[in-house]
Amino acid sequence: MKKINIAIDGPSAAGKSTIAKKVCELLNYVHLDTGAMYRCVGLKAKLNNISYEDEEALCEMLKNTEIVLTPDGKIFMDGEDVSEEIRADDVSLAASDVSKHKNVRSDLVKRQQEMAKDKGFIMDGRDIGTVVLKDAELKIYLTASAESRALRRYKQNIELGLPVTDVETIAEEIRQRDYQDMHRENSPLTKAEDAIELDTSDLTIEESVGAVMSYVEPLVQEDA
Ligand code: C5P
Repeated sequence: MKKINIAIDGPSAAGKSTIAKKVCELLNYVHLDTGAMYRCVGLKAKLNNISYEDEEALCEMLKNTEIVLTPDGKIFMDGEDVSEEIRADDVSLAASDVSKHKNVRSDLVKRQQEMAKDKGFIMDGRDIGTVVLKDAELKIYLTASAESRALRRYKQNIELGLPVTDVETIAEEIRQRDYQDMHRENSPLTKAEDAIELDTSDLTIEESVGAVMSYVEPLVQEDA
């Protein structure tokens, strides 16, 4: 089978990482969760009292920041496993705040392009199809209604043992983050022209994975 790269973009909690992980298992590909990298920047800024608005200080901080995404889905920052810590709601908003800066983005985009310079990667985020992997063979723009996304995040927080707020508070946080991500000046979230839009509101995870696989299969045939 031919190896390709797959870009998955879309708003918060649309199921990008969950679906990417499952498709990776089926194809034996590597998943790169770029949101986790912005979350690391948000977390480190928070811990060091660096303002999310201070682009220069954030970039200075990044010069001494190592972020490692392991093949089994763990996230290490400066040698420490932060996989769970970065999922907290305040870190989600911090990630969205720091990600609006051009130079923060260019630092992380460089790292992401280096990580996926070969084939066999599924990368998910907000600007993968439009900036990071413009030449990905398959681009998916994953959406779902705001209500179903809030409910999914609520259930996920319970599963991860994170502090749980009510669904409406989560929905508000998701709306705020989507608005910021879609209206920022640098690489706003938008569907790449050549991306396939997939609305998962009424699909189970298995059905969503099946839909993605139906787009992948013709592309990985040796004679494709
Ligand atoms: O995907 P996730 O919800 O973990 O991303 C956290 C935040 O990181 C997003 O709200 C967005 O602001 C930012 N992000 C980004 N570009 C990416 C991935 C994430 O700006 N490629």
